[in-house]
Amino acid sequence: MKGCPLHCQWCSNPESINAYPEIMAYDTKCVRCGRCEQVCPKGAITIVEDVRKIDRSNCDFCLECVKACTSGAIEQVGKYMSVDEVVEEVAKDFLFYKNSGGGVTLSGGEPLLQWEFAIEVLRQCQERGIHTALDTSGYTNWEIMEHVLEYVDLVLFDIKHMNPGKHKEGTRVDNALILDNAVRTAGKVRTWIRVPVITGYNDSESNIRELAEFIAKLPIEKVSLLPYHCWGEQKYQRLGRSYHFKNTPSPTDEEIQKLKEIMESYKIDVTISR
Ligand code: SF4
Ligand code: SF4
Repeated sequence: MKGCPLHCQWCSNPESINAYPEIMAYDTKCVRCGRCEQVCPKGAITIVEDVRKIDRSNCDFCLECVKACTSGAIEQVGKYMSVDEVVEEVAKDFLFYKNSGGGVTLSGGEPLLQWEFAIEVLRQCQERGIHTALDTSGYTNWEIMEHVLEYVDLVLFDIKHMNPGKHKEGTRVDNALILDNAVRTAGKVRTWIRVPVITGYNDSESNIRELAEFIAKLPIEKVSLLPYHCWGEQKYQRLGRSYHFKNTPSPTDEEIQKLKEIMESYKIDVTISR
């Protein structure tokens, strides 16, 4: 689901941050035909010296350029869907879920940003016997979260940093609400904690120990460590945004293994998800 109240600097899905359809541009596919320039009502596209430029500050996401481009060089990311459309799409794989023990996971972005929509999708999936999971940053009012959790079988709860200042620096929001909701969620629904491990941001031994001390007190099932990767970098360019983690390396296997062992020393079940 598109839309997120956090702005994690390392986000590998930047197209999921804004809660509306937008455009991604692929320079290598563009044949400079000029059709997009002709149809853009805002004059946001120009082709100068064989280079197509998009002035995003003038774009109102009318998507006329997407319709005009026959080369696939401007693509729409995100579309509006009704609850019924989403549930029908999910239900197409019902037999697969049944045979594999899987189900549906609402992810994003942040699904709780559209919590009423999320509830209706989750409720209808459960009614059809489909297992429901919620992948969340936990950044919402507890009243909303508690209501949504009534329709969730498993929560994948992301925690980025224990230090409030560092959390705000990396995500633009404070972590107090998130940590409070993590405690309440773990006491209510099956919960897995997910920790993106970002080189130079939250991978210090002190942060991992503080995190482990916090998590060890919760009735959660396991922790997944998610090593940072730069796979989203090109998406930033296609969205016309700058990428702050350009030269940040992924944690090595040895570094991740060390953090895993630190967490395990607190009697936490830890997996690594590359
Ligand atoms: S989506 Fe933006 S760039 Fe494309 S035609 Fe509309 S205003 Fe112009
Ligand atoms: S319509 Fe497509 S191929 Fe033509 S100039 Fe615009 S982006 Fe490039």
